[in-house]
Amino acid sequence: MPERSDKEYRKQSLLQAIREERALAEEKAAAKAYAERIVKLFNARAAKNSNLDAASGRGHAFFPTIKCCVLAEMPVAATQCPGCRMITHTDLRAKDYHPLATIAALIFEVSCSRCSPNPPLATIRGLIVASPDYNQLRKTWGKWAVPKSQK
Ligand SMILES: [Zn+2]
Repeated sequence: MPERSDKEYRKQSLLQAIREERALAEEKAAAKAYAERIVKLFNARAAKNSNLDAASGRGHAFFPTIKCCVLAEMPVAATQCPGCRMITHTDLRAKDYHPLATIAALIFEVSCSRCSPNPPLATIRGLIVASPDYNQLRKTWGKWAVPKSQK
């Protein structure tokens, strides 16, 4: 068996590294596409559920994991207090939850502090994209926002 020259060895190593990088990029793109499908499905179901009254008993069929939301680049959960209709936006990346926890883990934490002493559990209205100036907006306007339909 002929020995490979240094130049040939470097060329083969480089080609192998390029192949591995491409495979990794394809794998990441596939994982992101899958996560986006799950988040879109959740958002579609959440939009449907928001039109139903609580007495119908129809809730979310599933909740995506925090890792899935971050992977889909929709890391902000929009939740609403059923009592006062106040909407909050929570950046999942800033929370200290296990990445495989579902976003339902947020519900107790984001339940309304204005409706004390017995606040109703918050409803997750959907997941949204974090705008680049989201953190700046939060600093300026705070955590809470009044929905446009309530103004
Ligand atoms: Zn409230």
